Amino acid sequence: MGTANYFDLKETNLSNNCPECYSTNGLTLTYKQKIIDNVLYKANGTETVVKMHCKNCNSDIFPVRWTEDIERVVAYQDRALQLKPKSLKIKPLGWFLIILDAFLLITVLLIATGVITF
Ligand SMILES: [Zn+2]
Repeated sequence: MGTANYFDLKETNLSNNCPECYSTNGLTLTYKQKIIDNVLYKANGTETVVKMHCKNCNSDIFPVRWTEDIERVVAYQDRALQLKPKSLKIKPLGWFLIILDAFLLITVLLIATGVITF
């Protein structure tokens, strides 16, 4: 249960030469941050993926095609990157289970301490 999705965290235009078409105004670097979304809660993860795309020749530039200059710029961007905070959002089913757990715990405590007897 639960799937991993990613949202666009940051997009930067690079002035590097595209390894495919050699244009200097087409490369964009996109960081995506993982989002954990399941039936109980939704939260931002700490994993990121990076994707490079050239708008000029409309191709994805995979890390094997990166030049030394591109790698340097990406390393710089990596260091400057700030992740979005976790921001946990509990869904109704999650709340229901938390409340149910609390209720069961209280009932068990009341029975154990002799407040409730059958
Ligand atoms: Zn290109």
